This record gives sequence, C-alpha cells and structure tokens, in this order.
Amino acid sequence: MTLTDAPAAAGTDEKPPLTLYLADPRGFCAGVERAIQIVELALEKWGAPVYVRHEIVHNRHVVEDLRTKGAVFVEELSEVPDDKPVIFSAHGVPKAVPAEAARREMIYVDATCPLVSKVHIEAERHAARGRQIVMIGHSGHPETIGTMGQLPEGDVLLVETAADVAALTPRDPESLAYITQTTLSVDDTADVVAALTARFPAIVGPLKEDICYATTNRQEAVKAMAPEIDALLVVGAPNSSNSQRLVEVGRAAGCPYAMLVQSAADIDWRAIEGVRSVGITAGASAPEVLVEDVLSAFAARYDVAIEKVQTAEENVVFKVPRALRERV
Ligand code: SF4
Repeated sequence: MTLTDAPAAAGTDEKPPLTLYLADPRGFCAGVERAIQIVELALEKWGAPVYVRHEIVHNRHVVEDLRTKGAVFVEELSEVPDDKPVIFSAHGVPKAVPAEAARREMIYVDATCPLVSKVHIEAERHAARGRQIVMIGHSGHPETIGTMGQLPEGDVLLVETAADVAALTPRDPESLAYITQTTLSVDDTADVVAALTARFPAIVGPLKEDICYATTNRQEAVKAMAPEIDALLVVGAPNSSNSQRLVEVGRAAGCPYAMLVQSAADIDWRAIEGVRSVGITAGASAPEVLVEDVLSAFAARYDVAIEKVQTAEENVVFKVPRALRERV
C-alpha cells in the first residue's frame, strides 16, 4: 500500500475518524536503555570498532544505528580479534563466553540486563542446594541459552508449554526448582507453573517473579485496552520475545486482529480497513521513533484521536558497569 491508497483519497478530503489507544508503558525498558548506553560509552571510551556478540537488543533499527557509530555485530566470540573490546548482549550469555574472553585476555563488558542476571544467580543458588532446575522458556532464544549455560549440561531442563511438563524425567522429583525467561506471557507461564506444581508438589519457585516488570507492565496495558480496540499493532521485531508475547496477549484478551509491525511500512492497511479503534504498543526493544512513525502514518489516513491507556508508571534505571562510568 502507498499513501495514495489511504481511505481519505477515495474522492474526498475527509478522513474517516479513528481512535488510537496508546499503551503506556510501551517500548524501551531499563535493561535495553542500559545495553544501548553500554555500546555507546564503549565506542566513546575505546573508539571504533567495538564488537558486540549477538544483536545488543532485538531491534534492527537500534542495531543499524549502532553499526553506523562503529559497532560490529557478530554471533560468536571466535569472530572477535583478541585486541578489540567486545560487549555481550542484554539477553545474557552462557558462562563459557566470559570465561573464554578472560582466557584470551580480552576487554569485555557484559550488558546482560540485571534482571536476567538475577535469574542466573537464582539458578546457581538452586544448583548449590542440589536442586535440578526446570526452566520455562523458549528453546533457542539467546536468553534461554544464556541462562541454561550458567550450569553444566543436564542441570537445567527446558519446558516451553504445560504439555511439556508430562514428558519431564528429572533426576529426583523431590529436589527441583523452576525459573523462567524474563519475557514470557504472564498468563501462559502461570499455566506451566500450575502443571509443574501439580506433577512435582515439592518444586521450589522464585522468591520474586522472574518475568520482569517491563514485560508484565506492557502486557497489562494491552489487556486493559483490549476491550476497546478493533485491532492491535505491536511495534517490535519478529525475534523479540516480549513483542511476540504482546501480540499473543492481545489475541488472548479478545482482540480480533493483533499484528507485529517492525515499522509503519509493515502496516497492512487493507486488513484494518473499516476499524474504528486501534491499539498501539511497542516491545521493550523498540525505539519510540518507530511508534511515532506509526502514529504519523495513521494521521495521514485518518482523523485521529489519541487516548492514552496508562496502567503503570515506570522509573527503573540501571547503572552501566563501573568500567564505563570511569572515563579513559
Ligand atoms: S525486558 Fe526485562 S529482562 Fe529484558 S532487558 Fe528489559 S527489563 Fe531486562
């Protein structure tokens, strides 16, 4: 679709009315802000190139912006020369990665979100008490790989759904703990936890929820707006777990049309033709500029009224590592 396909272009200057419900909170969380800041400060301190193992956060726009400033994104540490600084992404890394960087005497900075590190520490504490761990997470996601990689292979079993619980064969069903990925759907995870506690009544859970505040808050805002909206657009990347969960939460809350868009260019105008209200939110790794572009694209086609749906106030800030707070 192009601008000329907009509803207002059908022989009249009058644009159809549309209410946009804008989720608050949406977009960047404290862990993403910190990770981006770490790469920027590293570039300032050491100059380009600074290597980043994996996309620092799951967003193409953010990655491209940092690339133009001198960041070089690689998937493995083996691709980084010994004498260049390297940053580990916000999702966390298996223990073997910093160990290898230390062995090679590299300069490295770990941008793992402190809320992911909290889960890593939890896993180690359970293991120290002799418990085998069940991780609720998505297979192949870097956070899951990083968290499972805090312990030797076999110490952490992965389940993705409540149905997976039946197939678990733990070493000792009386000595188990569970942890979760930080960006899961709150409601789906509750189902998996219920299945785990039903099958393993002695299983130990986290003292405080592993799903992070940002994930929870963004999902709550979507649930709050769901009864008002005919369609939901989530600005985010396909490989962003919490963005994908927002789409699922919207659908589960009864929204008839819920779609992920990476930018305004992805909006399927034909699919939402005739709607009177659209909810807009953004995953924790999606910059606000992409939301603004989406709002502008709607304003070009519709007579837009904006309603903010605020369900929480966020004021979380994480400090960057000391090495980057100290100037050269
Ligand atoms: S989504 Fe949550 S865990 Fe992930 S980076 Fe943001 S604050 Fe940290």
